Amino acid sequence: MTEHTPAGLPGTIHHWIGGVAVPSLDGRTFDVADPVSNTPYAQAAAGGPADVDRAVAAARAAFPGWSELTGRERARTLHRIADAVEDRREQLAHFESYDTGLPITQARGQARRAAENFRYFADVVASLGEEAFRQGNEQFSYVVRSAAGVAGLITPWNTPFMLESWKLAPALAAGCTVVLKPAEWTPLSASLWPEILTAAGLPDGAVNIVHGIGEEAGQALVDHPAVPLLSFTGSTTTGRHIAACSARHLKTLSMELGGKSPVVVFADADLDAALDSVVFGVFSLNGERCTAGSRVLVERSRYAEFTRRLAERAGRVRVGPPADPATEVGALVHPEHYARVLGYVDLGKEEARLVAGGTRPAHLAPGNYLQPTVFADTPRDARIFQEEIFGPVVAVAPFDDEAEAVALANATEYGLAAYVWTSDLKRGHRIAHAVESGMVWINSHNVRDLRTPFGGVKASGLGREGGAHSIDFYTEYKTVHVAL
Ligand code: NAD
Repeated sequence: MTEHTPAGLPGTIHHWIGGVAVPSLDGRTFDVADPVSNTPYAQAAAGGPADVDRAVAAARAAFPGWSELTGRERARTLHRIADAVEDRREQLAHFESYDTGLPITQARGQARRAAENFRYFADVVASLGEEAFRQGNEQFSYVVRSAAGVAGLITPWNTPFMLESWKLAPALAAGCTVVLKPAEWTPLSASLWPEILTAAGLPDGAVNIVHGIGEEAGQALVDHPAVPLLSFTGSTTTGRHIAACSARHLKTLSMELGGKSPVVVFADADLDAALDSVVFGVFSLNGERCTAGSRVLVERSRYAEFTRRLAERAGRVRVGPPADPATEVGALVHPEHYARVLGYVDLGKEEARLVAGGTRPAHLAPGNYLQPTVFADTPRDARIFQEEIFGPVVAVAPFDDEAEAVALANATEYGLAAYVWTSDLKRGHRIAHAVESGMVWINSHNVRDLRTPFGGVKASGLGREGGAHSIDFYTEYKTVHVAL
């Protein structure tokens, strides 16, 4: 506990199955700690196969009632969920900040985004039609859309509540019922779903939540034969494992995985805007952002200037307690993750030139804090250039021409996002087309449009979320042919 402990913290976090808060059948729990004191403040139920089985049974029981409602009827409930999220936005922000270490000012945006996800998919499903085709006077075909069944949703610890909403909203909109397995390092905000969903009048069993360790609760969901589709967001390593396990049942998969996204800055770019964007892209959300621009490639004629200014800005970023409104980078989520990030910082000192940060700020006593860190002159084969660090650490390297910029941008196994800064828009489009990534922002950063596909190529994922793509994922289609 710290001086910033929010009011109303639960001492115990239960599963939520069939509309009832329940412990694990075998009574097991695990410790939940905050990333400032790193001491447990709650116990969460540690689910296993029997708990997942119970949750799947509840989801199956709720499926006929929920899936047979019209889209418009489900949309009404989704809007009420959005209202209930907004009603709790302050509590949610404090819970999220306390549990994940996100700065409170940034945690405040999460409730708004979560509510928006429900409103958006409510609108989508309320306006969905079905397709019909006619072959002259011979045959008429129409396509029937139905919910795919019980969806397994597995989510990571970065912006956990918002990412849970990003899966819950389209799954429910499409008529699926779900079993959600939140990340074990950050189960606190998920403990608010039961009261939110109950307040919104969602039928019992439409959403079930099983907490627990990935290899136990998550694995049981992956292996469950009555869960035909899995939507997973997390690391590439876990994603590969889940994909391999899912082959046995031929499960439908959506995989939003890791990234090592390049920012390509040409000499003709608005350097102030590019610097603002780089600082935001890799240091906001503590750098624990899948689309972080964590590799910055700068045209050689502006490289020295850019690197110097980036280092200065990194040095000015305020690291501090997550609950302090002045904090810009809070505490990294967990000591294990912190040690991993620090390991990359040590490695970076051997592989490249440290120009900012690289240490724990001296004025902060306990907690998983790291001063925003910039490495320059990073070789293309350096591990800090290749591997996802998922913390406030950025690797910078120079390039000489467009071809080299593209080659460097593509020189990783990942392909989630990319950013291009140039005043030559034709070149901006050329680079956007040549970069191997699911999303590219030109002279902009990370502004989302929920109608567009979100996701990556290469080791960054399979499939897309967003807009009609999400609804398609949670839907089965049947074509009916009728002779005329
Ligand atoms: P992780 O892969 O360790 O865990 C993600 C989830 O999977 C957790 O709920 C975990 O309990 C569960 N899990 C672990 N092993 C499992 C197993 N064997 N079977 C089933 N479930 C299992 O990832 P993380 O460290 O929580 O999250 C960080 C990663 O997520 C980063 O790589 C980041 O880039 C990625 N991410 C991607 C996106 C995206 O949209 N592409 C968004 C956010 C985060």
